[in-house]
Amino acid sequence: MSDTQHAPLKHIVILGGGSAGWMAAAALSSLLSPDVTRITLIESDQIGTVGVGEATIPDMINFNRMLGINEAEFLKATNGTFKLGIEFKDWGKLGDSYIHPFGSIGVDMQGIDFHHYWLHNRSSGNSAPLQNYSMCAVAAENGKFTLPDPNPRSPLSHLRYAYHIDATAYARYLRNYAEKRGVTRVEGKVTRVDQQNETGDITTLTLENGQTITGDFFFDCTGFRSLLTEKILDVPFEDWSHWLPCDSAQTVATERVGSLIPYTKATAKTAGWQWRIPTQHRTGNGHIYSSKFMDDAEAKDILMAGLDTQPLSEPRKISFKTGCRETLWNKNCIALGLSAGFLEPLESTSLFLIQQGISRFISLFPSADVSDVVRTEYDKQMRKEFHQVRDFIILHYVATERDDSPFWNYCRTMDIPESLKSKMDLFDKAGRIFRYDDELFSKESWIAVFLGQNIIPDVTDPIVSSLPKAQVDHSLKSMSGAMQQVAQNMPTHEEFLQRYGAAV
Ligand SMILES: Cc1cc2nc3c(=O)[nH]c(=O)nc-3n(C[C@H](O)[C@H](O)[C@H](O)COP(=O)(O)OP(=O)(O)OC[C@H]3O[C@@H](n4cnc5c(N)ncnc54)[C@H](O)[C@@H]3O)c2cc1C
Repeated sequence: MSDTQHAPLKHIVILGGGSAGWMAAAALSSLLSPDVTRITLIESDQIGTVGVGEATIPDMINFNRMLGINEAEFLKATNGTFKLGIEFKDWGKLGDSYIHPFGSIGVDMQGIDFHHYWLHNRSSGNSAPLQNYSMCAVAAENGKFTLPDPNPRSPLSHLRYAYHIDATAYARYLRNYAEKRGVTRVEGKVTRVDQQNETGDITTLTLENGQTITGDFFFDCTGFRSLLTEKILDVPFEDWSHWLPCDSAQTVATERVGSLIPYTKATAKTAGWQWRIPTQHRTGNGHIYSSKFMDDAEAKDILMAGLDTQPLSEPRKISFKTGCRETLWNKNCIALGLSAGFLEPLESTSLFLIQQGISRFISLFPSADVSDVVRTEYDKQMRKEFHQVRDFIILHYVATERDDSPFWNYCRTMDIPESLKSKMDLFDKAGRIFRYDDELFSKESWIAVFLGQNIIPDVTDPIVSSLPKAQVDHSLKSMSGAMQQVAQNMPTHEEFLQRYGAAV
């Protein structure tokens, strides 16, 4: 091997200062010495950021740990709250409600998944919802929060949590972190991009004011603009809007509600759904809809009618397309964040996919001369992740009995990816679900949505079915009773934020 192949990257340039750009800058600056590899981030105040992205999933805790971030300080700086799951209303049918909790649901017994015991109990007339057996859901319904207990015998060991954050404050917090570790921030709009003749690698970005920045590796964090990946490197976009038909959002922040709920709300509407995300200083609201089935004026009216408190500004419209780039690492450039793809925010997975992109880049850390093998491996892993998350989100739309609008008629009857179809069939016909290839969503997540949206399997595990009904009923009652009791003794979400030193 020649020396050039081992030459370290000397200058990484991150174009874009939204969550994607600053997450990359923060993570890389925590690992790289500025004496070996410089990092520059360019962002344009004139263009601004998308300014949404407030609900997260538990994996963000690992990202923060990797950066050595203090949790209470982080929550204070981002007006953050804790999130134990998502409440879905009106999805399976109008009037339905269920929680997709983080953490486990019930306890598997004799090596058999808990949901078989629940199904057996249900067949004998016990109608207690599945969420009664999830510590996260029980705490969420009671407005309570505490940290998980490391003792595996405690019901609190089943807690898992994430955060609700103010997206703008998050980018500011990470900027401060990254600048302290030597990242140089350049303000201005990139108007020209130069590439090497033979390889097509990006070499130099030129700003509107004439300043040039030369680098040997680039992150395209330019959001939906996808300046480097789409406009310069001409990478095609795989459109998934036939499966995920929402393409628009009306968003508005409102005054904070009285008590802070420790979960996100997602309420299905006529042509999409509306979110409610509580942060400490205000509530984030958005109505996601398909412009094929609803116009902007009606979507805005629905948003405003669904608010609990006074809006703090006029609603803002954001348009998007669901899908993913055909390749995410092209030449010497990785597309990260919205420039890589977007699956809509239903399960709060975008910041997670950014985190995964950064972690994979670090685990494959290239030398200055990037090899094709490395690029291909990155793409293989990242696209698999996008596909797995995509299927889980589609499930929410297709698993419905709603027939009250053309949008739901479309979703209920649409073709779905084969990968999802086989998963749904296996659950429907055999009540089984398996987690493949380290996929993000656990068996419990799939089960929560399947059962929450009325996909009830035809059969129950025969070993469980042969157990006396009274015995199963007794076990389940004591399990949910214990969780209720534990929840009663937990602090409220607000009390916990205060005690933890995270209250603003
Ligand atoms: C409606 C909606 C709701 C969402 N909700 C969630 C959620 O709850 N949870 C979640 O995890 N994710 C959510 N997301 C996704 C999340 O917002 C994004 O993944 C995240 O904010 C990252 O965005 P970004 O950094 O890729 O893009 P942006 O925030 O758009 O940043 C782009 C950056 O590029 C810069 N830029 C662009 N062009 C140039 C140029 N020519 N020169 C210089 N700078 C340039 C801009 O100035 C900006 O700094 C949501 C997205 C949408 C649309």
